[in-house]
This record gives sequence, C-alpha cells and structure tokens, in this order.
Amino acid sequence: MLTRISHFLVGIGAIFVGFIIKQGGWSHHYGFSVPNEVGILFVIFGIMLILYGLFKKCVPENEASKFIICSECSKTFYAKDIPDQKCPKCNAKLEDMEGFYERHPELHDGEKSLNN
Ligand SMILES: [Zn+2]
Repeated sequence: MLTRISHFLVGIGAIFVGFIIKQGGWSHHYGFSVPNEVGILFVIFGIMLILYGLFKKCVPENEASKFIICSECSKTFYAKDIPDQKCPKCNAKLEDMEGFYERHPELHDGEKSLNN
C-alpha cells in the first residue's frame, strides 16, 4: 500500500520522466524513441497521483475505513457517515467495530446460538 508521501514522490518521478520523454531526452539516453504523447501521459499520470495523495490527506485512511456498530441492533456503519455516533435506526449509541464482541460477548454468543 502506497503512503501519501510515496504517491507524491512517484508523481514527481512520473512528471520528470514525462518531461524527459517529451523533450526527446529519453531516446538520447536509452537508444530507442518514445512518442511525445507518452511523455504527456506520464505528466498527467504524475499530476493525478499527486492530487490523489493530496485528497487522501483530507480523509485519513484509518478514519475513512473505520467501522462503527450499533450496540442495540448490531448494524454496522462507516464512522465518517455518522458524525453524531447515534444509530439512525434505533438511536442507540454506536461503538467502534474493533473489539466490540470482546466488550459485548453476550451479543457474540447470541449470534452463535442461532446456528445451534
Ligand atoms: Zn441500532
């Protein structure tokens, strides 16, 4: 998994390679020619990577992928979708998905007994 910094560095690298290709420096160094259009694609790809890296900054990965679970109806939600941490269905308190069944072993047992 690439981090935000490596997105940025790879993006800069792609733009750099793109400019070398576009100015014909690539064929000078490596002996085979690459069309100028490929250089432009590299530059676009680099800019997109950098913008993606900047966008990720706004929504940190651990926040974006964090699940919360209702302690009443066991329904799960994305934490970022429910800012007030209240279940939209039953208005009960929502908790972190992580370690939920350790804190509420009775709910885990309840699910198991349905299978028996
Ligand atoms: Zn609920």
